[in-house]
Amino acid sequence: MSVIIEAEQLRKKYGETHAVDDLSFEVKKGEVFAFLGQNGAGKSTTIRILLSLIRPDHGRIHIFGKNLKTERISVLHRTGAVIEKPDLYGYLSGSDNLSLFARLNGLKLSGNEIREQLQLVGLAERGRDKVKNYSQGMKQRLGIAVALVHDPELVILDEPTNGLDPQGIVDIRNLILHLCHNRGKTVFISSHMLSEVEKLADQILIIEKGKKIMQGSVTELVNPDTVLVEIDTTDNAACIRWLHSAGYVPETVSGKEDRIRIKLSREKISTFSVDLVQNGFALNSFTPVNSLENYFLSLVQ
Ligand code: ADP
Repeated sequence: MSVIIEAEQLRKKYGETHAVDDLSFEVKKGEVFAFLGQNGAGKSTTIRILLSLIRPDHGRIHIFGKNLKTERISVLHRTGAVIEKPDLYGYLSGSDNLSLFARLNGLKLSGNEIREQLQLVGLAERGRDKVKNYSQGMKQRLGIAVALVHDPELVILDEPTNGLDPQGIVDIRNLILHLCHNRGKTVFISSHMLSEVEKLADQILIIEKGKKIMQGSVTELVNPDTVLVEIDTTDNAACIRWLHSAGYVPETVSGKEDRIRIKLSREKISTFSVDLVQNGFALNSFTPVNSLENYFLSLVQ
């Protein structure tokens, strides 16, 4: 599968705040990639960097195999984005908004093309209505239609379901899946709610304070045969060294050095805890983290 976005060691500081801190990731062609983190985690800053709206202090980005710094224009021609509430003209109809934004992009859409675009985002019936009478979800979908007028391969959406009602959230979710599965687009979305992307994303990357905390496919992260556990022992630093030497793959949670995370197959749990104790590490806590939702909560508590 080819790589669409390759971001390496991105950093961006605002004063003393590390908005993005040594962040690397890859987004593959045709996937829905969810970028998940609490408010202030660094999602918008990263998206602004990807769209060349701000420069990182450090790091490299390749999109479609092109260096964003030197080939910005050609990359942006193949990218569509909605990063804040879409800027639409309330007194114009949905169709007229689309037509206007297409012209601003140097494109002249025929009546049929406009209808097709509106149909794609589920607004065919309401194309003649003034946008000021649209619900929040309809405005969001029209915003996405505007971002799609030049038929981009990559679609970047910053918190696309923010402030929407449950039906609005479902509509956006279905639209994203359609774009990906039926139109071959690669979709990068940010969200602060796991429940919104869990059913949608092929890959989830969780960030906190600008740093990557974990990344994986939903199936990897909720694999029923493996259990993710968090342990706290009497000597975590020594325990990590021992875990490595014993062939385990421990991880620490950035900013939470009192916890070690480790993935275990279910049948190994009992031998693992005996092993620990036999090697001199008493357990202060041993917490299985069995759903991604719990896991996410445990990271941000
Ligand atoms: P998110 O999108 O995940 O909510 P942001 O990327 O907006 O997070 O913000 C990350 C951090 O950077 C926050 O602490 C935020 O206050 C800070 N930040 C973002 N933009 C600016 C800016 N223009 N000036 C100063 N601090 C900023």
